[in-house]
Amino acid sequence: MARPERIVVLGYGIAALTAAESLRDTGFDGELTIVGDEPHEPYSRPALSKAALIDDDLTALRLPASSHGATELLGRRAADVDLDRSLVRLDDGEELAWDGLVIATGSRARRLVPTGHAAGLDAPPELTLRGLDDVRLLRRRLEGRPSVVVVGGGPLGMEIASGAVDAGCTVTLVSDEPPMLRHLGPDLSELLVTAAIERGLHVVTTSCAAIRWNGPHPSVVLEDGSILEGEVVVTAAGDLPNLELLAPSGLLTDGRLVVDSRGRVLMRGRARPDVVAAGDVATFPTVRGTMRVPLWTAAIDQAKVAAPTLLLGDAAPELDFRPYFWTEQWGLNLKASGQLPPVGSPEVVDRDLSAGSALLRWAGDAPAGPGAAVALNYRIPVPRLRRLAHGTPAPDRIAV
Ligand SMILES: Cc1cc2nc3c(=O)[nH]c(=O)nc-3n(C[C@H](O)[C@H](O)[C@H](O)COP(=O)(O)OP(=O)(O)OC[C@H]3O[C@@H](n4cnc5c(N)ncnc54)[C@H](O)[C@@H]3O)c2cc1C
Repeated sequence: MARPERIVVLGYGIAALTAAESLRDTGFDGELTIVGDEPHEPYSRPALSKAALIDDDLTALRLPASSHGATELLGRRAADVDLDRSLVRLDDGEELAWDGLVIATGSRARRLVPTGHAAGLDAPPELTLRGLDDVRLLRRRLEGRPSVVVVGGGPLGMEIASGAVDAGCTVTLVSDEPPMLRHLGPDLSELLVTAAIERGLHVVTTSCAAIRWNGPHPSVVLEDGSILEGEVVVTAAGDLPNLELLAPSGLLTDGRLVVDSRGRVLMRGRARPDVVAAGDVATFPTVRGTMRVPLWTAAIDQAKVAAPTLLLGDAAPELDFRPYFWTEQWGLNLKASGQLPPVGSPEVVDRDLSAGSALLRWAGDAPAGPGAAVALNYRIPVPRLRRLAHGTPAPDRIAV
């Protein structure tokens, strides 16, 4: 395989930046260009729903400076990938030639009110939180301590609700199942919901049927027809991969960007050596089937595999799938790794769940899949938590 001399990276999030760094670390000294449609310096997306919701200092979101030495085309959008001519076309018509392509265009918030419908309105009735501009708008809207309805009981919805309560708002959270159940199972879901209610959150466990303007304020229509009024409505209903620019290229399989275990894009079942993908946009093989894993560390791990594959081919390592995520809400810090939600009862490895600080482990059904490990208000290095989830003996204890 000829080593590429011109590599274009699409996207300017953590997957794109990690890919650029990894290319240089693997010895790539050719022409490197990154295209990102956001005009901002790189920032931490997870912090948007945590510190950034309440801290005034948004500069704390900035990621450390990169050393990849790439040409950065920011505020520019890739509009089309032409595989026959090995070109990326930008929305202003400029064409970039490549012999290696990294697709890391991430995802966007899934809106409950279609934008086409909302286009006829002065403003969409729902706010979402995906980028820096979103958090700036949300913070402004929370300043007057309005009543807030958050739709979505996953980590993002719960973090937004937690931040809004901390900002002094009256907050109702609508979720079609107990919040965090799908992610962490019944015991930890109950623990987080109890902490949330103690801090003043109202939880409504039912589906949201519609969101619409009701006079000056948006309202949330529930499945039973009842209406929840809120001066601000924020939805956190999942994400959609940014794939549209790839649709004409033939790179999509059943509407997904499917890659092999080294991040190479599969076209009609065959891995392309010159096009890789990583992060929220990519569908990777995992022990639980091929799927997107829209998590920060997954984006980093995938990019560290995909970028060297452009240079090394089969000599590059495959992805070692060890999912990890963390959440901060209601004064609690939770880190989780392994097969989530965990199944069955955990072994308490250290401390005591009822005392609010614990290290927990679920055995799982190995060899079919890993177990799980959760650290609640408990300091532990991420690699050790991951090893614990995958069945390695208890890690060295670290004081909280
Ligand atoms: C508010 C929030 C909180 C989160 N909290 C956590 C957490 O606590 N823990 C966790 O593990 N994960 C968390 N996540 C998920 C995590 O942030 C993502 O998994 C991660 O940022 C994905 O990185 P990425 O580089 O793949 O995509 P992105 O960060 O989405 O970056 C993709 C970039 O590409 C740009 N782009 C898209 N299309 C084009 C185009 N055509 N041309 C040029 N540029 C384009 C996008 O605008 C974006 O800048 C959170 C996400 C959000 C939104």
